[in-house]
Amino acid sequence: MENNKNEGLNDKGIDNKETKETTNTTKKEVVVECKNLTKDFDGFKALQNLNLTVYKGEIFAFIGANGAGKTTTMNILVGLIEPTEGDAIINGYSIVKNPIDVKRSVGFLPESVYLYGSLTARQNVRYIADLNGGVEEKKIDEVLDRIGLQNVKDRKAGTFSKGMRQRLGVACVLVKNPKVVFLDEPTSGLDPTGKTDIQNLLRNLSKEGMTIFYSSHILGEVEDIANRVGILHNGKLERILEGKDIEKVAEIYKEITSVNIDRNKVIK
Ligand code: ATP
Repeated sequence: MENNKNEGLNDKGIDNKETKETTNTTKKEVVVECKNLTKDFDGFKALQNLNLTVYKGEIFAFIGANGAGKTTTMNILVGLIEPTEGDAIINGYSIVKNPIDVKRSVGFLPESVYLYGSLTARQNVRYIADLNGGVEEKKIDEVLDRIGLQNVKDRKAGTFSKGMRQRLGVACVLVKNPKVVFLDEPTSGLDPTGKTDIQNLLRNLSKEGMTIFYSSHILGEVEDIANRVGILHNGKLERILEGKDIEKVAEIYKEITSVNIDRNKVIK
């Protein structure tokens, strides 16, 4: 994984469009590019002029308090809602001009995972695979094995614990074989083992070249696994941290929000 140094970023670590074109893009494959992305809900700006570039194979973490705009951003980037202004290019497709191509090409795990409770784990994955053009049986097994659900593959999803549901949700995302995945708080509500399992999975997927864009409320977690961390506050991307700065995330978060938070506590 290439280390994304500060090329093309301004003093807040946020993309400076003019320099970015001549630096980062020549070295790294851009997978997500947000351009002045804005979302207005009846006059309330939930997201304001987001400019952000995410590269192939990196784990980009979005952090921010409840209501900061994380879900709104993800919903726009996966084509669930339209931006009021701006655009984003995902896997080469514009979310404004080619929203169907965007939806086909990305994986998305929403905050509340939707599963078919009366179907088994395997049937849930198969159903999603079929909706996306189908895959061979061995791919379904591979994905279930990878997220550790192979031994419960014939159990109905309705009987699953929160951690198992979350893992099955991830399996449904992976079976599409997306180049980029958007995961909205994938470790929220999980016990320590469940959290570690998902974190290890994200690390491995990134090593294999998958781009991970995910949100979290846990500073310690993003410190451990993210290559870059974006701090979103009141709908604005205030900072992007990378390298050694990620270790100072709690301090920097406090500077921006005036909220004092321990690395292992959850931001609210
Ligand atoms: P959380 O950590 O609680 O999930 P978040 O950072 O994901 O929060 P969003 O869900 O994106 O935040 O919400 C950002 C703001 O936009 C909030 O003030 C929310 O109330 C508002 N908002 C989100 N969706 C809508 C909507 N459909 N209509 C009106 N306001 C909305």
